[in-house]
Amino acid sequence: MTELHHLGVAELAALLKNKEVSAVEVATRFLAQTGGNPHNAFLDIDSEVTLAQAKASDAKWAAGSAGPLEGVPVAHKDVFVTKDFVTTAGSKMLSGYRSPFDATVVARLRQAGMVTLGKLNCDEFAMGSSNENSAFGPVTNPWDTARVPGGSSGGSAAAVAARLTPAATGTDTGGSIRQPAAFCGITGIKPTYGRASRYGMVAYASSLDQAGPMARSAEDCALLLTAMCGPDLDRDSTSLNVAEENYSRDLLRPLARAGKDGGALTIAAPVEWLDWGNDFHHLDPVNSGIKADVSKLLQSALRKLEDLGAKVIPIVLGKASLSIPVYYIVACAEASSNLSRFDGVKFGHRAKDFADLTDMYKKTRAEGFGQEVKRRIMTGAYVLSHGYYDAYYLQAQKIRRMIADDFQQAFADCDVIAGPVAPSTAWTLGDNTDDPVASYLADIFTLPASLAGLPCMSLPVGLGDYGLPVGMQLIGNYLQEAKLLNVAHQYQLATDFHKSTPGVTA
Ligand code: GLN
Repeated sequence: MTELHHLGVAELAALLKNKEVSAVEVATRFLAQTGGNPHNAFLDIDSEVTLAQAKASDAKWAAGSAGPLEGVPVAHKDVFVTKDFVTTAGSKMLSGYRSPFDATVVARLRQAGMVTLGKLNCDEFAMGSSNENSAFGPVTNPWDTARVPGGSSGGSAAAVAARLTPAATGTDTGGSIRQPAAFCGITGIKPTYGRASRYGMVAYASSLDQAGPMARSAEDCALLLTAMCGPDLDRDSTSLNVAEENYSRDLLRPLARAGKDGGALTIAAPVEWLDWGNDFHHLDPVNSGIKADVSKLLQSALRKLEDLGAKVIPIVLGKASLSIPVYYIVACAEASSNLSRFDGVKFGHRAKDFADLTDMYKKTRAEGFGQEVKRRIMTGAYVLSHGYYDAYYLQAQKIRRMIADDFQQAFADCDVIAGPVAPSTAWTLGDNTDDPVASYLADIFTLPASLAGLPCMSLPVGLGDYGLPVGMQLIGNYLQEAKLLNVAHQYQLATDFHKSTPGVTA
């Protein structure tokens, strides 16, 4: 039998159900994997807590009261608060912080039976694209430890890729599930804004933040998404009041019949996003900076989807090209407001020596926050300030609406939009640390769907230059997660890219 840590969520759930393995055996195997903290992926591990949860799962299997994912391990990005593990959000500000309650997403996965392996490293307050902004050191990419795993959910992506956990939670404000999933060769999905409760998720930019699963396949992501999502109206004012869904329901639908009227599924590829050669030059594509190896693998993934019965058409997304300035104004504005709560009074770090209250605030925040977080708080305060509000914040909100409208126009002609996740594969640690704008620019393809609140995912489509993973992004219309997972699963049934393992690549 394949070693337990190489199995995914669906496979482990089946073994546990058939009593071929116990939850304690599974947990013990994964805990052994996390020993020595490979890739610096974890920020907190507590084997006693994990094994106690696994024992409880075995008791539930014995009593016939097991949940759908009973005994399957999961690890959480450290922005989800947890009772049983420390929560830091990757910040010195929250070093050693223990929450009195579990985030809704954590509680829901526990209810489904999942056993918590620990907390995963991430960029400080989820701000970043490389996991180098964590106060607790960077995470390394299992495909090449000299490279970044992506961010901000870098610990989540590295842990899944390195087989330290079969699945993880992540959060995506502007790409933090999709981009690290792409850089580490795994699958991840961000649902429609409001599907997963934000209760207990340390806030970065509240109108954008959304939780989602990261695992090795679309099939596994569907299982976790089903358990994670659902209305939480009393505790999250932006929670969507729509019924829970089984996101696995459409996985097996052939693409030739998965379209709007039961015909072929139509996939639109934005001309601005791919290097199409001379094919669509009359459409005047914007130079998105996409690298040749990424572009080539995406073209072959699109051809594969055509072979599987889908129809591929070109589209122009128009205002999406303005996403970078719009996002970095809106996200920083919201961050500057959200992070005002870290003032040394109620929780988290407090400076030791101070003269008066103002001095205490100043020293606490100067000591507790890292450089990137400070940069964003200052940018946010600036764009919201009197005199600049109209020129920056208001203008950004207007363009945000236009970006969302452009997507609605696009979805009149297609079922799904497909394109790159990032212009390149994982970069080398330290490459962008002196140039924050260079990392911001690498978010060009993930930000539009975030600004519009649309469901979107990343799935591996092969290895580019230097054997580094490349991801394809799929974007769907509101509440169309099942359709995205359908496309991804059909692709994964026909290809093996999601199965390749760092160091063991075929
Ligand atoms: N890279 C983006 C940022 O730094 C996205 C981060 C995220 O999605 N949390 O804001």
